[in-house]
Amino acid sequence: MKIITDERCTSYSRPGHPERPSRISGTLARLRSQSEMALSWAEPTEAKDAPILRAHSPELLASLDKPYDFDADTPYYLEIAAHARRSVGGALEALKSARAGEPAFSLMRPPGHHATRNQAMGFCYLNSIAIATLEAHATGAKRVAVYDFDVHHGNGTEAILKDTPGAAFFSIHQFPCYPGTGSKNVGNNCFNFPVAPGTPRMEYRRILTEALEGLKRFEPDIIAVSAGFDAYARDPLANGTLEAEDYFWLGESFRKLGIPFFSILEGGYSDDLPELIFAYLKGIDGK
Ligand SMILES: [Zn+2]
Repeated sequence: MKIITDERCTSYSRPGHPERPSRISGTLARLRSQSEMALSWAEPTEAKDAPILRAHSPELLASLDKPYDFDADTPYYLEIAAHARRSVGGALEALKSARAGEPAFSLMRPPGHHATRNQAMGFCYLNSIAIATLEAHATGAKRVAVYDFDVHHGNGTEAILKDTPGAAFFSIHQFPCYPGTGSKNVGNNCFNFPVAPGTPRMEYRRILTEALEGLKRFEPDIIAVSAGFDAYARDPLANGTLEAEDYFWLGESFRKLGIPFFSILEGGYSDDLPELIFAYLKGIDGK
């Protein structure tokens, strides 16, 4: 399994912001100190304009260079454009790895699934998973499925991929919750699985399974996973009930599908994030 990361993504922060550098640095320390899995490592390059502009407007891309906050959650940071481009680059590298037969996890920030075509929001600047999905499609994949298990609805991914031929979006998320969307299906290819706050763990898992069954029926030739770990029982941002073993189970579930897939980090704000990612990767690894 390949881990794609670049430590420069830990070099920006704002005091008190939950989307913080230790999410990555703590996970890196955990992965470097383990010997249970054989990991290979790669660094992403900054994504170029062409793949980004399939998903975003030129205006949004240009606005990343201007020193203005998008909203309170999504501030301007020095060089945020380069950080966001490298995070997209991680997703594109992960796609490449999956196609070459090696599952990959892009361990980068900022996350991306709330960014719409024209709007950076919810800690997200460029929508890495949507960009990688459109790239896969433009370079030969016939059917690409996105599975998003972040506790928040991937509104940006949905808005970008809605009614795109050969793409399907499956999101399992708490509702009601930020950003307020995702209560029902949208277009002909966006399938939403809202979960009420505090839904017991095994019921949450049943809903994840239901979404997975829908994904299988779509018969994708590649799967892009928006891996957010904030449906965890002790995450500070939502009211999920999942435990580390559920993330192991998710990783195992993707492996067992036998379809090339890659994952990118979205949310996950608990101090236990490194253990949750480790459990997910162990499930993918399967040894
Ligand atoms: Zn989230």
